[in-house]
Amino acid sequence: VRDWGLIGQGRAVRALAAALRQGRLAHAHLLVGPAHVGKGTLALRLAQALNCQSGPDERPCLGCRQCRRVQERLHADLHLLTVETGHREIRIAQVRELERALSLKPFEGRTRVAIVDPADAMNLEAQNAFLKTLEEPPPDTVLVLVTARETALLPTIRSRCQRTALGAAPVGELAEALAAGGLSPEEAERLARWSEGRPGLALTLAREPDLRRRRQEEAERALSLAEMPLPRRLALAEELAQLFAAEGRDRSGEEDGPPAPAARFGERLWAVLDVWQAAWRDVLLAATGAEEGVVHREWLGQLRALAARMPLREVDAFLRALAEARRYLEDNVNPRLVLEDLLLSAPQAAPAPA
Ligand SMILES: [Zn+2]
Repeated sequence: VRDWGLIGQGRAVRALAAALRQGRLAHAHLLVGPAHVGKGTLALRLAQALNCQSGPDERPCLGCRQCRRVQERLHADLHLLTVETGHREIRIAQVRELERALSLKPFEGRTRVAIVDPADAMNLEAQNAFLKTLEEPPPDTVLVLVTARETALLPTIRSRCQRTALGAAPVGELAEALAAGGLSPEEAERLARWSEGRPGLALTLAREPDLRRRRQEEAERALSLAEMPLPRRLALAEELAQLFAAEGRDRSGEEDGPPAPAARFGERLWAVLDVWQAAWRDVLLAATGAEEGVVHREWLGQLRALAARMPLREVDAFLRALAEARRYLEDNVNPRLVLEDLLLSAPQAAPAPA
């Protein structure tokens, strides 16, 4: 299977495939990269390749029993460590349980594979416990840590893993893959740009028209900030702070309603801020003639018109404020204050020319 079925990660896949063929694959891996670029998929592909029944050059074939069992997450030698429903962290008890499981010989395949995703969700205790497993790896075992926030891991953990970095896929390559999956070339290109080269996001948008519509509305709301009066901005800050808080409640299990297992704390707010950042970077890019990088290319005229009604340094300052707001929220600064500050720093457009 070409590039193990991943989009735009050819280099990472080729390096791992070569190591596997030559029998020098590391026993511990750290897969690093932004959300939705394919880290989780690559971790599963490694587990499949290590257990695949096809010939060495065809692994992972994705068709044999072993590959299918891993794909369905039913394989007895596949161990997935993630944040359990009702918790906000990966706990030491989970790591201890994994340790016990790894001490047994592979049962269904050749190699036990443990995937920790997101590895940065391990609290300090859990990381220290995990370190022991890394230091004395059981035979026939491969450990795969997946993270978008590498620096949240202990340096001693990082130094014991083979690091593989995944980045955004080239938009052209992603658009091609989406078109091959049945989208019209125009729609494929639009979603490849909207997702900024993140195949996971593009495929979700392709599958879910409702999400596509909401994504579009969010971008429109982002740009409408420029004409939003002060009270409305403050109300929006409050609304977003509540969204953020609600996500926290979902995670701690105080409220009913099933949180999606993959949903991380703040993910919905992060998605909103992602769209805002893309929309406002577009304003800057459209104004400076760097149209190649514009995410919402279908709005090029509007973007230029909007940019003409405000000093570009204010746009630039707002983009910085967006990045800063994420850092503050990650550091647990009061979300309402952070979001109010952010909303107040959005550029105000001069009245449109008649
Ligand atoms: Zn296979």
